[in-house]
Amino acid sequence: MAAELLDGRALATRMEVGLRAEVDTFAAMFGRRPRLVVVLVGDVAASASYVKGKAAAAGRVGIDSEVVGVAGTATTAELVALVREIARGDRGPADGILVQLPLPPHIDTTAVLDTVPPDRDVDGFHPENAGLLSQGRPRFIPCTAAGVQRILIDAGVVAAGRHAVIVGRSDIVGKPLAALLAAKPPRAVPPGQRTCCDATVTLCHSRSADLGSLTRQADILVAAVGQPNLITADMVKPGATVIDVGINRLDGRLVGDVDFAGVREVAGKITPVPGGVGPLTVAMLMANTLLAAELGSRR
Ligand code: NAD
Repeated sequence: MAAELLDGRALATRMEVGLRAEVDTFAAMFGRRPRLVVVLVGDVAASASYVKGKAAAAGRVGIDSEVVGVAGTATTAELVALVREIARGDRGPADGILVQLPLPPHIDTTAVLDTVPPDRDVDGFHPENAGLLSQGRPRFIPCTAAGVQRILIDAGVVAAGRHAVIVGRSDIVGKPLAALLAAKPPRAVPPGQRTCCDATVTLCHSRSADLGSLTRQADILVAAVGQPNLITADMVKPGATVIDVGINRLDGRLVGDVDFAGVREVAGKITPVPGGVGPLTVAMLMANTLLAAELGSRR
């Protein structure tokens, strides 16, 4: 039987409705809307398209946004200076600051990202936010990892005591997701609210030996690599929940890391690409921007 399809687009739309109401409440209380500033360096088509999607989502939930375009020839020092300028408010209020990745190869990405003030770091990439997450007291959670957890919660997937196998160890997806799924549950969970944590987590990467023997143990399998068809049906335990984070262009189409046609015959639940994790990533960015504005209002 084919797996249940987890519709990330529909979930993101539901989240946006809730966020719109919360943003309107913020605006009524503080007389202004949260504001997101995105730095876009160079003219990479995929980055420009992601940024366009983020600005459109901001518009839908009532968040003001500005995209600051910078030539691809900019230096690390120039980008660091620009982020500082934005953080000082020289270009208007900036509750959330995001530097669209990847940056050109001549740029020291870490130096630029470390310049984003941690309390406006809506991507959750600053080491202070990564540290807080790893200690189980998250502030800004990287949007894709948070989006994966949200899909699992929405689908009623139980992680406690189960084996989650994550393929890909990046700071953006794999590592923060491992921290989220392995975490203890939050101390105060409101009645009726589900969590998705307490899992036993295996984090795989490019040097993991015999990947299939590891992925076949997964009750929850997440692929975040950037390699089409890496995960095939024989690598999946029957009934497992499979979350495909990968975004690859293959023969003019967008595909994930999972051989969707084969794996959906084995898995219990599966996300499509496109229309799975991607829309959740953007919705989580909006939630983080509202959180940044709320934190800012207490400063
Ligand atoms: P990355 O390049 O930083 O990391 C890739 C990881 O895959 C590395 O940890 C590497 O060790 C691992 N890897 C490489 N080859 C492997 C192999 N053969 N077996 C096992 N592991 C292997 O990538 P990233 O930024 O984490 O992104 C991963 C994918 O997710 C990309 O396709 C990216 O486009 C996509 N992505 C999607 C979203 C979204 O919103 N859906 C967000 C971020 C990234």
